[in-house]
Amino acid sequence: MAGPPTLQFLGAAGTVTGSKYLVRHRGQQVLLDCGLFQGLKELRLRNWLKPDFAPREIASVVLSHAHIDHTGYLPLLVKRGFRGAVHCTAATADLIEILLPDSAKLQEEDAARANREGYTKHQPAVPLYDLADVKAALKLVERHPFGKEFPVAGDMRATFRRAGHILGAASIDLAIGKPDPVRVVFSGDLGRYNDPILRDPEPVPEADVILVESTYGDRLHPPDPVTELERVINEAVHRGGPLIVPAFAVGRTQEMLWFIRQLESAGRIPELPVYIDSPMATEVTELYRHHTGEHNLPLSRLTDDRGSGIRTAREVMIHTVDESKAMNGLDGPFIVIAGSGMATGGRVLHHLARRLPDPRTTVLLPGFQAEGTRGRQLEEGARTVHIHGRDVPVRAQVYRLEGLSAHGDRNEILRWLHGFQRPPAQCYVVHGEPRAAEALTKAVAEELDWNVRPAVDHEVVTVLKNEEWPT
Ligand SMILES: [Zn+2]
Repeated sequence: MAGPPTLQFLGAAGTVTGSKYLVRHRGQQVLLDCGLFQGLKELRLRNWLKPDFAPREIASVVLSHAHIDHTGYLPLLVKRGFRGAVHCTAATADLIEILLPDSAKLQEEDAARANREGYTKHQPAVPLYDLADVKAALKLVERHPFGKEFPVAGDMRATFRRAGHILGAASIDLAIGKPDPVRVVFSGDLGRYNDPILRDPEPVPEADVILVESTYGDRLHPPDPVTELERVINEAVHRGGPLIVPAFAVGRTQEMLWFIRQLESAGRIPELPVYIDSPMATEVTELYRHHTGEHNLPLSRLTDDRGSGIRTAREVMIHTVDESKAMNGLDGPFIVIAGSGMATGGRVLHHLARRLPDPRTTVLLPGFQAEGTRGRQLEEGARTVHIHGRDVPVRAQVYRLEGLSAHGDRNEILRWLHGFQRPPAQCYVVHGEPRAAEALTKAVAEELDWNVRPAVDHEVVTVLKNEEWPT
């Protein structure tokens, strides 16, 4: 049965997490991304379900980038029998060595806390996977440079192209069959153009089927987020309390530091103590020195202790949990940057639990906040949020800062799509909440006149070359 290849959407279709796309061809199965569902409980519960495929039958996994919603299912895949190769770029490989153990740790801690404090319906609560599963998964990793084709399974080959979203982030260009392959291109998460730190997303020459992300498919980023950041920081200083910034350890934290330093250097904000309460963020910052080909910062600026690069003037690294807890006694103004980026876990929670009831506190949400996360609740003006089993009143000022996103906006996604030299047979819009996916679909149809529609969760589609597509 040598029919055409098929593609199945097993996550990040109608949502922004759980990115997993299964390609089947001539008895071979390849998974593009292996992401964990995050956010809403009904989504998170999907991580526990038996998958639509047999993990041991997957030949290999190709990762677009290191974020947990694209990689966090990998240890579970291995726990459930997967033994193939995991293909990714070198920086992605370095990043998942930091992020996956952290993901396991967060899940083990959550399960332990739920058991200790008795706020679980499951007795006892168990983690989705543990550190041993992560170690087994990391052993399967194979690193590949950008722009160089590598074999994936059977007659399928892949090439990574720069996506500009975080260190190592790639679009996946999958060629299926020889000598005249059909090409599936998955955008991965697309970054921004003219970013001060990361290099631009690269165009991909051609595709028969395109999967394009749509996180910000319904929005345009404001042109000048730095002025907004300046205003928020100065207001926080005026209020006299802490400025709490929930931020991803990868990308967002370094970007925040870079912008804060720019504002300090220009005298637009005072030089405040900036606490990086995330050992992980500190490790990630170190990786910028090893992957200089991925960003625009000269090495000299990364090694400058006075902070002209991604360090601020009065930066304090917080390493231990005790140091973090000792910050409870600090008086403002100061800035604390801590994970997780959507306040779903991590050290930022104890800062929020302690400081949200205080009207002198300012919270700045610099990234996308998915449905069902505390970050989204804060963004939408919740009067209380539930943290560690109790309701915490919110009297802090909460701001959202959109322009610092690691995702391109609608026009930037369209710019990347314009890079293709001919129309695909079909474009599927993925990795967006329904409104964003619909908006991008409309924009692509109007501007490029392609066959385009949002991907449907669990749907299986046939991968055809564009000349075979009925017009
Ligand atoms: Zn991402």
